[in-house]
Amino acid sequence: MAERILIIEDESAIADALVYVLGTEGFEVQWCGLAGDGLKAVQEHPPALVILDVGLPDQSGFELCRQLRTFSDVPVIFLTARKEEIDRIVGLEIGADDYVVKPFSPREMAARVKAILRRSRATVLLTTEPATATPFQLDEQRKRICYHGVWLDLTRYEYLILSTLLRRPQHVLSRAQLMDAVWDDPGASFDRAVDTHIKGIRAKLNRIAPGEDPIRTHRGLGYSLEMQAAGVRR
Ligand code: CA
Repeated sequence: MAERILIIEDESAIADALVYVLGTEGFEVQWCGLAGDGLKAVQEHPPALVILDVGLPDQSGFELCRQLRTFSDVPVIFLTARKEEIDRIVGLEIGADDYVVKPFSPREMAARVKAILRRSRATVLLTTEPATATPFQLDEQRKRICYHGVWLDLTRYEYLILSTLLRRPQHVLSRAQLMDAVWDDPGASFDRAVDTHIKGIRAKLNRIAPGEDPIRTHRGLGYSLEMQAAGVRR
């Protein structure tokens, strides 16, 4: 079955060129001109990859990408026209997989799409490897975490909190440290939000390995991950 690419781009000339070239490469292509329609499309019918314009009429591509990352790990390639935007894509952890600067060659875009899909298929194959001694595997490239051989279905914040704990197993991290590590604007959140996300992560871990509960609460201090060795796959 053909892999489906979703293009979210308001300039029809650019979208037409992409629809054409990706179609000739054997992809099924869907095009939305608005961020709102793109969000709905990803929710209703998850694509294999999203090509996302930064400048959309109803919302910025950055905002849309953040929203997508709360529920989806779909690879995203940004389309951008300006140097300042590249700095944001590269400098901030928005969750993009690649970017292409306008004007661009549709053939080059098709090559990038294929490269990223190859990469994400390779990541999926890792899940079939036999379980190792450590129950966690952190896939930083694709921003997901494997627990006892099962990919966790984490929200973006849950992923960021758990990966922060995984990078420093046996260390107590305070709520403030966890917030600083994960929030774009730490001032906007409260300790209770960390507790809520930890609760969500625990529930998901417990579904896979009931009663194991590797996250320890240190009253008045914070949280730690009690694992001998957390596997980090880069
Ligand atoms: Ca645009």
